Amino acid sequence: MDKFCAWLHENMPGRYYLQEPMKNHTSFHIGGPADLLVMPKDVEELRQLLLCISLEKLPLTILGNGSNILVKDNGVRGVVIKLGNALRKVECNGNFIVADAGVSLAAVANKAASFNLTGLEFAVGIPGSLGGAVFMNAGAYDGEMKNVVKSVTVMYIKDGSSKVIKGKNLDFGYRHSAIQAMDCVITEINMKLVSGKPEAIKQKMADFTDSRVTKQPLDLPNAGSMFKRPHGYYAGTLIEEAGLKGYTVGGAQVSEKHAGFVVNIGNATASDVLQLMKDVQDRVYEYSRVHLEPEVRVIGD
Ligand SMILES: Cc1cc2nc3c(=O)[nH]c(=O)nc-3n(C[C@H](O)[C@H](O)[C@H](O)COP(=O)(O)OP(=O)(O)OC[C@H]3O[C@@H](n4cnc5c(N)ncnc54)[C@H](O)[C@@H]3O)c2cc1C
Repeated sequence: MDKFCAWLHENMPGRYYLQEPMKNHTSFHIGGPADLLVMPKDVEELRQLLLCISLEKLPLTILGNGSNILVKDNGVRGVVIKLGNALRKVECNGNFIVADAGVSLAAVANKAASFNLTGLEFAVGIPGSLGGAVFMNAGAYDGEMKNVVKSVTVMYIKDGSSKVIKGKNLDFGYRHSAIQAMDCVITEINMKLVSGKPEAIKQKMADFTDSRVTKQPLDLPNAGSMFKRPHGYYAGTLIEEAGLKGYTVGGAQVSEKHAGFVVNIGNATASDVLQLMKDVQDRVYEYSRVHLEPEVRVIGD
């Protein structure tokens, strides 16, 4: 690690942080320190970084916008690479949008709308990066990333080499993509949209935004839906039926507004959230014999 820190000091001054609290980088506002958090300024710097990390055999975690993760209280060992502050280019060419992985999904949805392109309206209120959205196959209402991704460029962690993979080969499914089993970083995404009517696009985006504001606990830190939707059910309804709306462990609470969300009502620890998740899973199983599987990804020690 010392050798790596010396390399960072020389090559990336001002773009790395030692013992950086991850609660500053997650929508849950929870998480202990990362040994090292690094923010590469562009793809070339990312490549150099990956080569060094792989040479030094350091553990590596990739972070988008931190809106679908729970970081444990002892933090993350090794290196966390945060892409959101760089890799932010978005270009529109006819019906195609090519964008960097670090750009916010909402910004891409707005860009599409400004070019009268339809297909990304669903994404307007999802607070992730574009790379994180592809990794998770994020979706809402009538859409998911699967429907618009033509191809992605990935960079392999082991040697920094890049490859373009077609969307149809990414095995997209419900909150699933093949990238989840690959040791790589998504760097660029090519999306194909359809020409639409500006008023209809605007209206759809406004309706989706209204629906989120009305139904979701956006005033408290959270990480979106805590559990995946079980086949034939809604996680929030099952949790509510089990009498768990408002159920609290420490600073973590099943949202009073939407039982599918867990909110941080003040200084929640990851242990609080994990205990609450286990209690919810047990009680829902007891009540309805359905097993809830986490959607939020848990990382760290
Ligand atoms: C209020 C709220 C509402 C939400 N609503 C929705 C919703 O409607 N639909 C939905 O699907 N999700 C929703 N989410 C969850 C979340 O926003 C999405 O899953 C989003 O796509 C995560 O993106 P991110 O950049 O924050 O990823 P992160 O949380 O940073 O990371 C998630 C995973 O992706 C990996 N990853 C991120 N970027 C890359 C990359 N460039 N290359 C390789 N791996 C990468 C990370 O390693 C991690 O395993 C919501 C969250 C919140 C807080």
